[in-house]
Amino acid sequence: MSDATKLRDSALAAIAKARDDTELEAIEVEYLGRRDGKISRQLLSGIAQLDPSQRATLGQEANEAKRAVEAALAARRSEHQASRLADIGETEEIDITFPGPSLERGHAHVLSQVRKELEVIFARIGYTVEEGPEIENDWYNFEALNLPKGHASRDVQETFFLDANEEIVLRTHTSPVQIRAMERIGTPPIYIIAPGRVYRRDNLDATHLPYFMQLEGLAVDEGLTVGDLKGTLLYMVQSLFGRERSVRMRPHHFGYTEPSYEFDTMCGRCMGKGCRSCGGQGWLETGGCGMVHPQVLRNGGIDPDRYSGYAWGFGIERMALLKYDVEDLRLFYENDLRFNRQF
Ligand SMILES: [Zn+2]
Repeated sequence: MSDATKLRDSALAAIAKARDDTELEAIEVEYLGRRDGKISRQLLSGIAQLDPSQRATLGQEANEAKRAVEAALAARRSEHQASRLADIGETEEIDITFPGPSLERGHAHVLSQVRKELEVIFARIGYTVEEGPEIENDWYNFEALNLPKGHASRDVQETFFLDANEEIVLRTHTSPVQIRAMERIGTPPIYIIAPGRVYRRDNLDATHLPYFMQLEGLAVDEGLTVGDLKGTLLYMVQSLFGRERSVRMRPHHFGYTEPSYEFDTMCGRCMGKGCRSCGGQGWLETGGCGMVHPQVLRNGGIDPDRYSGYAWGFGIERMALLKYDVEDLRLFYENDLRFNRQF
């Protein structure tokens, strides 16, 4: 075996074992380096010393060895390249050279924002937040609120009952929290708001939801009058919508207040003159309110001869709808980011 062939074989063996391009580079220098490469040197110097008959053979062998080593180096380099690319997919979870996706920042849902805003508005005038269970019994949801069995305002058609005896219900309003608050706090003054979810067996459409959020308010103290109630509602509406908006109360009937009213917010588009968005009324229905019925105070353990109280309630969705001109209640619950991002 000639020297050139031996050098070729040892170069090929080294190439086969090389683990990366740095090692291949070293092998290339060792065998093919322009001056000191083992194969190059043989080509340049070795041949000169031989007699002409041997030169051709040795030259050819050395050239063949050189080409074989070059080809082996190229093949090994492309193998390394391929396995590096495969490894990126397999082993590297983060390619730090790749631009990252931008992280989106979320924010509270519009209903949470409005609820929070209302909590802050009422906190400023001394109201605290009171909570109650969403699963209620007949006493708290109806009976204690002066809505005995058979009462027209019970809305049995709209109630989700959780038992066959119709004693356990998903609360149909936040008003049961009034009774629970009176029981818990005991002696007035009582100034609370109760935001929370309520349930109605309504068919889902643009103006009805099977569950929604209400905000209940209750004040019990000595000498409270309808004037205090109206002042409180006016303060709320103006805090939420601006000082130019006012409140209107219309007589109504609820079992748990006497007298009872529905209250409206002045339309922000026409300022009470009447326009298309308020149906020509100039006012937008907002909620219900009234002076707490003496029997309800008694049911909450409060002496109605000494104390009086007022209460109100409205849908938080309704308030958000008035604030942001949303036309369909369902949008609040569809979680469509195109909608949610606007607020
Ligand atoms: Zn209007």
